[in-house]
Amino acid sequence: MQARDRIELVQGPEAEAAARAEAARAAMALREITVSYGESPAVFSVDATFPRDSLVAIVGPNGAGKSTLLKAALGVVPRLSGTVTVFGTPLERARERVAYVPQRASVDWDFPTRVIDVVMMGLYRELGLLRLVRASHRERALACLARVGMADFATRQIGQLSGGQQQRVFLARALAQGADLYLLDEPFAGVDAATEKAIIDVLKELKGEGRTVVCVHHDLATVADYFDRVLLINTRRIAEGPVGEVFTAENLQATYGGRLASAHIDQLRLSEQR
Ligand code: ADP
Ligand code: MG
Repeated sequence: MQARDRIELVQGPEAEAAARAEAARAAMALREITVSYGESPAVFSVDATFPRDSLVAIVGPNGAGKSTLLKAALGVVPRLSGTVTVFGTPLERARERVAYVPQRASVDWDFPTRVIDVVMMGLYRELGLLRLVRASHRERALACLARVGMADFATRQIGQLSGGQQQRVFLARALAQGADLYLLDEPFAGVDAATEKAIIDVLKELKGEGRTVVCVHHDLATVADYFDRVLLINTRRIAEGPVGEVFTAENLQATYGGRLASAHIDQLRLSEQR
């Protein structure tokens, strides 16, 4: 066979069928996602596959399009192009299986709401149109708060909590939803060490239950400890795969360009370049 023929085989119908099969098995598959707020795209033709039962970090510099990619995956911002498959079906048919915790800075905390009511929002599908809250709902919400170490704060106003406490409450709301796929935007940003530990423990438990967790993550030093897989992006996808394979100095340089000092890279637990 000629070399050219082989290349055509790899990119041909067989490769497409393999990609479809992979998307069907994955918790979420993004194909050629492009989003633009203005003239130039914030996310350009990004492919990503988040396998079931995995903990995935999305890593890249400020403005790389990480938040935009999550929002586009959820249909919160319109896509110029691309498809989103969730558990093998279009997003619209699996929406209740996906929980989203937005970047904390993007939420207005001034509205008067108690912690328990925020968590109950995660139960909205079960509460139905009349929003009938039963004792069992309240118990479930309290159990989710306990799971993140916030049971004692149920009747506090959300605006009175520290950043780390608010982050835990939002995770409790996602837990109440009972989703199979969790998309979290910088869950560790601005939280104290105890909160970080509480959150990563819950995320690892979720994975242990066979669920999938995807976090936008800014701390390169903890990527190897916390996550199985990493997606490196800077508007475009730079690399994606198991941390041990793609979290390399070379890929980080490609992602951050000159913005990451090599002294900093030297301190990271990186996988060997191959
Ligand atoms: P990241 O989360 O990686 O820091 P974002 O997805 O928030 O990046 O932003 C990607 C780019 O899109 C940035 O240049 C940002 O300024 C721009 N952007 C984000 N949100 C909006 C918006 N609502 N309107 C216009 N531009 C936006
Ligand atoms: Mg962001």
